[in-house]
Amino acid sequence: MKGFLIILVVAAFIIYVRRKKRTRAYDLPASASELLTRHVAFYNKLDDSGKAHFEARIKDFLANVSVRGVGVEVDDLDRILVASGAIILIFSFPDWRYNNISEVLLYPESFNREFDQQGPGRNVLGMVGDGPMHRNMILSKSSLRASFSASNDGQNTVVHEFAHLIDKADGATDGVPDYLLSKHQLAPWISLVRETMEEMKQRGRSDIDLYGTTNETEFFAVIAEYFIEQPGKLKERHPELYGMLEKMFRPQAASKR
Ligand SMILES: [Zn+2]
Repeated sequence: MKGFLIILVVAAFIIYVRRKKRTRAYDLPASASELLTRHVAFYNKLDDSGKAHFEARIKDFLANVSVRGVGVEVDDLDRILVASGAIILIFSFPDWRYNNISEVLLYPESFNREFDQQGPGRNVLGMVGDGPMHRNMILSKSSLRASFSASNDGQNTVVHEFAHLIDKADGATDGVPDYLLSKHQLAPWISLVRETMEEMKQRGRSDIDLYGTTNETEFFAVIAEYFIEQPGKLKERHPELYGMLEKMFRPQAASKR
């Protein structure tokens, strides 16, 4: 048992050193801060040290996760936007790394559940892979661009898919992000989610995307989009949900209240 633990610690250390090395060797595109200023509202709200920190996180992400086009060109802006969507959610956690993804594939437009870019049922804009695709994410490039061109419409496919990865990090993609919730917050979160979903189903309409009623997993991804894109509106209309999400994603701000 002791030998096994030593092996685990050594393996974790090797992974850490390799990751650091890759990050050191990777250079962000020269236009990174200009692209962030032009396209990422979240970055623009940060002070200078926050901006520098955001750029460092993006560099670390892109050094370790590749962004590849399938039938479409990938340029610096695409890479910056994918990394931004990933980092915005976990920005309050300096040590959080997405260890469950290696590659983001960009498709030109929407696709279907079989990853076909032609034919019927092409209504998927983003997807976290499973099975042989378990370390991949697929995003439609047009949806990636749209997510950031309208930064306050409540919709952000990139944030949505990375929320799924955060949910998945504890081993179960179930709408309960265990790493973001303390033990005593688990039950209140689950009942608040179920209550809200039930209310949405009964009314048949909501300011929360009705796709969130699919299941608890989709509810978490949809409400994370809402929290990032329209925090003021969410706070006003669903204060309890907002309060819990703030504790999850921005614990330092929440503890000051
Ligand atoms: Zn989803």
